[in-house]
Amino acid sequence: MARIVMKFGGTSMAGTERIRRVANIVRKQQARGHEVAVVVSAMAGETDRLVNFCREANALYDPAEYDVVVASGEQVTSGLLALTLQSLGCKARSWLGWQLPIHTIEAHAKARIESIDAAALVASMESGEIAVIPGFQGVADTGRITTLGRGGSDTSAVAVAAAINADRCDIYTDVDGVYTTDPRIVAKAKKQKAVTYEEMLELASVGAKVLQTRSVGLAMKEGVRVQVLSSFVGDDAIPADDLPGTMIVSEDEMNQLVENGEMERQHVTGIAHDKNEAKVILTRVPDKPGAVAHIFDPLAKAAINVDMIIQNVGRDKGETDVTFTVPQADLARAQALLEDKRDEIGFNRIISDSKIAKISVVGVGMKSHAGVASTMFQALADRGINIQAITTSEIKVSVLIDEDETELAVRVLHTAYGLDAADEAA
Ligand code: ADP
Ligand code: ASP
Ligand code: MG
Repeated sequence: MARIVMKFGGTSMAGTERIRRVANIVRKQQARGHEVAVVVSAMAGETDRLVNFCREANALYDPAEYDVVVASGEQVTSGLLALTLQSLGCKARSWLGWQLPIHTIEAHAKARIESIDAAALVASMESGEIAVIPGFQGVADTGRITTLGRGGSDTSAVAVAAAINADRCDIYTDVDGVYTTDPRIVAKAKKQKAVTYEEMLELASVGAKVLQTRSVGLAMKEGVRVQVLSSFVGDDAIPADDLPGTMIVSEDEMNQLVENGEMERQHVTGIAHDKNEAKVILTRVPDKPGAVAHIFDPLAKAAINVDMIIQNVGRDKGETDVTFTVPQADLARAQALLEDKRDEIGFNRIISDSKIAKISVVGVGMKSHAGVASTMFQALADRGINIQAITTSEIKVSVLIDEDETELAVRVLHTAYGLDAADEAA
């Protein structure tokens, strides 16, 4: 017998018919003799709809009230799943964030889980009940409801798994695992048997939305075994216990899989894209100590995440251009803050561009293998795709390109690194 957390995303919960299928998957898992807790998302599109209501009600909405509104999507699906499980003859009970409770910090709309009181949950599971928990929500010390940021149900699931010492956290979604790139963009993308925590963390942070970045960091820290798999399966599907999806594993486990011949050693594990950033160029900034600090200090204070930064070589009169990226959602705020500091920074113009995309290649194999970056630059050059900025880490290379070229770039790179599924068959 194992203790398993099963998380179902928005597409899996979209409507009563889909919820019935989810209930069947859960029922079968419990029937195998396991203790089961389920974490659910709101129905697909529901959170977007609720966010829009908040914007319409008040463009400068109070995040505490936003949380009251957006957390409701998961309240609906957790109740509906408990009802559906009961209709199948299972004992089931929902546990809202404030009922367990799931304690978070007070940062509304982007709260972080601090701890979960798991006693009631464990007692419920031990009595043969299926515990259904709405993802995405918690409660602050103030007693007010909080939410964890978009995609946060993945993090709820991993946090619950850690709190109840689960043997596994299965993340059910609309694809059957983690692929070499988004399978909706590249039909030849390959499903991976396993991906390391480190790689998944990097892939998630550069746009592979299959897992929320924070959920991967938490799983890594707490040693939670995570599997990504599909809820869109027939009755004859391989049981989740046989690990049909993608396992997120430690580097040691990965080395073991490679030694056993179950995985190939790859230099590049995945390619991700992100269209949610915007580029900002400040022209004719003084080329002297302290200039860059003046630019980024107000942005940091406003909690605006700056990603890629390029300072061009100085030109005449000791001036230079500074280019960087910020999330599109923060662009207007960033521009206003910089305008405010125009005299202090001493720039000439702000130029911004939201029609950009960041393409990243990720793989732990890069640590020991040179040439990954140059393959990327050459492949993009061969297709006439211009690179506007570059950043690297030990296991990642990212470039900024024109948004219109996103799909082409991802496809070209997928082929250039020999990741296309057909290559394997050849
Ligand atoms: P859920 O609603 O279940 O949380 P998400 O939409 O958040 O699902 O994440 C699943 C989606 O992630 C897939 O439909 C797929 O388009 C996208 N995705 C992006 N990169 C990858 C990847 N490397 N492997 C698998 N899916 C990916
Ligand atoms: N419903 C929330 C969202 O759409 C949380 C989640 O599904 O993970 O962001
Ligand atoms: Mg998701």
